Amino acid sequence: MTLIYTDPLFARHQMPPRHPEQSARMAAVLDALAASRFDGLERRTATPASYEAIARVHPSSYLDRITSCIPETGMIALDPDTHMGPESWDAARLASGAAIAAVDAVVGLEAPNAFVVARPPGHHAERTTAMGFCLINHVAVAARHAQAVHGLGRIAIVDFDVHHGNGTQDIFYDDPSVFYGSTHQSPLYPGTGAAGERGAGNILNVPVDAGTDGAAYRPRFRDTIVAALEDFRPELIILSAGFDAHADDPLGGMGLVEDDYVWITHQMMDVAAQTAHGRLVSVLEGGYDLSALGRSAAAHVGALAGV
Ligand code: ZN
Repeated sequence: MTLIYTDPLFARHQMPPRHPEQSARMAAVLDALAASRFDGLERRTATPASYEAIARVHPSSYLDRITSCIPETGMIALDPDTHMGPESWDAARLASGAAIAAVDAVVGLEAPNAFVVARPPGHHAERTTAMGFCLINHVAVAARHAQAVHGLGRIAIVDFDVHHGNGTQDIFYDDPSVFYGSTHQSPLYPGTGAAGERGAGNILNVPVDAGTDGAAYRPRFRDTIVAALEDFRPELIILSAGFDAHADDPLGGMGLVEDDYVWITHQMMDVAAQTAHGRLVSVLEGGYDLSALGRSAAAHVGALAGV
């Protein structure tokens, strides 16, 4: 049965008033997952990721720089979009720790899959740059942990957030052991993710036009991301699960709906079953319309859990 990782700390990471990446996003997802059909799912918390685990992705120069400016009160801006309050760094470390715990549980066959409900999100965080609401790249930390601690070889990270995961691409650009596949609206923030950005052949960017709905998205996703995964044969799939490609999202302009997230989830479960003993870890990224976020996350978890 699907494991859910979360913690109250994730709601205490504060952003400025009216910022889209708000604490209420946690309640929106957790309230949706409080529906009775999810009663059988085990909820877990985690411990913060160790320095060693984070340093597999972000160099000590970055970690020294960012931890030296954690405010005791109030908030500091790392860039115009990305803020840090007194508990933000702890929340980010715990989010990475939750992704690591999810990998441990799934690789340890405690459950076939897991969903991490955490914030701040991670996929925009590059090796040495916090940006796009992100401080630590959780999916990257989890992938490196799976390789370093569990000895897995090929890891696939699939990112269906409406924005390109520039951070994840940056981290794995020269590393053929990690496949990074992303669908994202283009043009849109952060401006990376052109189809020609291929890394060592391990990067697959699928930019799509604003207005793309599920009918146009599904064959595109199947012919690119799914086909590449069947070729790559990952031993573990990690999802950057952003729900801001939803038709109701205020930051994105795509037209996916809940059923499309069910479809994407089933596609990923099918590949995981073929090549990875079903092992799938999903980590929340974006999603800024609270109602659509809750409904989409519930659709995703419903598919993961088969409930
Ligand atoms: Zn996003």
